[in-house]
Amino acid sequence: MSSVQNPPPSYAEYSNYSNQPPQTVPIQQQFPQPLPPQPVPQITVISQQPTSVTVRTIPILGPIPISITCSQCYAFVTTITNHEISARTHCCALALCLTGLWCFAPLPYICGGCCKKTVHRCPNCNAFIGTY
Ligand SMILES: [Zn+2]
Repeated sequence: MSSVQNPPPSYAEYSNYSNQPPQTVPIQQQFPQPLPPQPVPQITVISQQPTSVTVRTIPILGPIPISITCSQCYAFVTTITNHEISARTHCCALALCLTGLWCFAPLPYICGGCCKKTVHRCPNCNAFIGTY
């Protein structure tokens, strides 16, 4: 009878060995928990950016000179406009070529108007105000 009870202590040693590896696994599962709180402070940083952007007012510009207050010299002026070649000019010339009117393709580069972008500048300090 007593010889039969000797084998169970050796099985208990096996159960102690098998219990130790599962104890290390729950410790590794605790590492991902500190990571999720980090993205939460980044969202609050984004909300601070629009407050600095709204300080500057963007004037509504058109193809003709307009009267505005210059953002550089703070004088109330009527803008000087210049027509410059832009991507819109190239698109107009390309459209003329594709429709068979290739002989009129140089017209967007020669003439001003709607095919070129209008650059507004301050006549007082020559500061760049915007484009249309
Ligand atoms: Zn100015």
